[in-house]
Amino acid sequence: MADQPGWAGVGPQLAARLAKLDIRRPQDLVLHLPLRYEDETRLTPIGAARAGMPVQVEGEVQSCEVTLRPRRQLVARIRDDSGTLVARWLNFYPSMQKQLEAGRRVRLFGEVRGGFFGDEMIHPRLRAVDPGEGLPEALTPVYPTTAGLAQSALRKLIGRALNNVPPEELLPAARLPGLKLPGFAEALRTLHQPPPDVDPHGLEMRAHPAWLRIKFEELLVQQLSLRRAYNARRTRHAPVLRERGQLTAALLAQLPFKLTGAQARAVAEIARDLALPHPMQRLLQGDVGSGKTIVAALAMLQAVENGRQAVLMAPTEILAEQHWKKLAAWLEPLGVGIAWLSGSRKKKEREAELARLASGEVLLAVGTHALIEDPVALPRLALAIVDEQHRFGVRQRLALRDKGADAQHPHMLMMSATPIPRTLAMSYYADLDVTVLDELPPGRTPILTKLVTESRRDQVIARVRDACLGGAQAYWVCPLIEESEALQLKTAVETFESLTAALPDLKVGLVHGRMKSDEKSTTMTAFAAGELQLLVATTVIEVGVDVPNASLMVIEHAERFGLAQLHQLRGRVGRGTAESACILIYAHPLSENGRARLKVIYEHSDGFAIAREDLRIRGPGEFVGARQSGLPLLRYADLEGDAELLEPARTVAEGLLREAPDVAARLMDRWLGGREGLLGA
Ligand code: ADP
Ligand code: MG
Repeated sequence: MADQPGWAGVGPQLAARLAKLDIRRPQDLVLHLPLRYEDETRLTPIGAARAGMPVQVEGEVQSCEVTLRPRRQLVARIRDDSGTLVARWLNFYPSMQKQLEAGRRVRLFGEVRGGFFGDEMIHPRLRAVDPGEGLPEALTPVYPTTAGLAQSALRKLIGRALNNVPPEELLPAARLPGLKLPGFAEALRTLHQPPPDVDPHGLEMRAHPAWLRIKFEELLVQQLSLRRAYNARRTRHAPVLRERGQLTAALLAQLPFKLTGAQARAVAEIARDLALPHPMQRLLQGDVGSGKTIVAALAMLQAVENGRQAVLMAPTEILAEQHWKKLAAWLEPLGVGIAWLSGSRKKKEREAELARLASGEVLLAVGTHALIEDPVALPRLALAIVDEQHRFGVRQRLALRDKGADAQHPHMLMMSATPIPRTLAMSYYADLDVTVLDELPPGRTPILTKLVTESRRDQVIARVRDACLGGAQAYWVCPLIEESEALQLKTAVETFESLTAALPDLKVGLVHGRMKSDEKSTTMTAFAAGELQLLVATTVIEVGVDVPNASLMVIEHAERFGLAQLHQLRGRVGRGTAESACILIYAHPLSENGRARLKVIYEHSDGFAIAREDLRIRGPGEFVGARQSGLPLLRYADLEGDAELLEPARTVAEGLLREAPDVAARLMDRWLGGREGLLGA
């Protein structure tokens, strides 16, 4: 940082501090917008100042001294006609002592509170004034700043930049039909130097047209960079996988069910993409239980029909193994082999699988992230599918993409049951094509959700016994202990022991993340086969596990789980035709968010509705965090509040890329200045 070069009257040291605020050029200064505003246009009589409200007072200094107890501080007493006030500064400069000489007039801006010596202000902003000096006519902007950079210095720098580098209009009104927004320069001036008659509420709430103009441009730039990444991908080459239909038709003929309309549409869309000479980048979204696996299987067969390889990567061993078994059952009758790679396989078996893949003898593979490890060679890779894609990072997805041996990129299909609300999909995921499975297979009965306090745990145990003795199977999810893996393990083992003791007539199993792979596998197989009636588990069963006979889910300390997690866990039941229930045991005291989450999961069963509520409770930052990418985040626009700007931003972005790519490039430079991240992953 220290060797940051200076620029335009900014020395290296200042440049380093500004860089912390992502300000590297004069034009970045003008896009550094106020966090809030302070009203210095009015004075409050000292006697009328209320505690807890920021106010400005003006008065004469009566005394000023440096005291050493309880610690070194500057203490001044100020007086006006209505009263007196004590001001204290723990950090101060000699220049302040000068301004505070007895008899001088000063203005203080801060919050008053009652102190030992009467009303006081701690660390107020201080300004010396000449007698009769007028008040500012406009609101004073307050900027986000960083250590060593005073608010007043930053304000000066920005003011200077605003005058020296007049902001360039890149979106004249003609480019924004139907949007009544002020010009760029005018908007910036309003935000940095609000005129006296500005609506202060609109500024504060960021609803003023000046804010809308800036937020629109920001959203537009986000659309531009995502669309550009999307277009760039279409210039790359991928293997053409024609729709031949022999194997896919044979699989469909042998399935015990018919595809839903949504599945059929998804299959057709993907099949068409695979036949194109550039890489597919598609997100297949479908709520828990909507049947994504068969869609993946059909896509994989299209690769096989063309003599090419396809792989399916899943985030947990349990899920990878389950996929492998299911796919093997579907594909082996068709004479199609499939390799299985995971940490749980013995070295010999692994090596045999690797050899079969490397030679091209086997074209399909399923596995955990073991698939992207070094020894795995997939010389004929044409399609990579990532299940529960939100559980993987960008790097892992890129590593999978780069497994192919030739210069071509494989087609990528990402699958997720964590629905992305529309606004989020339109912004952060605009570089992907999205297919939605908006229909569940027929015959599913809705899951009954119950909220039960901890004090009724015994009744829940009794219910589990009745259900299991009646032929059903149940899951019991242990309390989540995020802080400590060791404690999590201990809790799981204790829960298992206490339930085994309480339910002597049931066969009870346990799975958790620290178990050896083959133990996990044995337990899951026994549960799937109905040999275990109750499965005590940690969140290792959160995603993907499919045991249709299981119809009761109990989640202990449900208030600790996130909404997406609860929805996924609940989705483990309701997969067969039996009536299913999910019992959420919660403990007091409930945090406000915990209570809000339980309410949402109780009231909603549709994953999209839950995701929307989740977005509302948590904000988009965490949601997008799951994508773990270098996507440019939004600084000013907010996806919930500014949703209505998104659609026009998308339209204008498409128009610009088509008709005025130079303007698009300049807009991106203005906002991103070379900060574009790992797009396209
Ligand atoms: P998810 O989308 O959660 O991954 P799965 O692919 O695991 O869902 O499918 C859930 C269950 O529904 C599986 O048992 C699967 O065999 C079954 N299934 C999938 N498609 C259909 C269909 N069209 N009709 C009936 N059952 C189906
Ligand atoms: Mg699945």
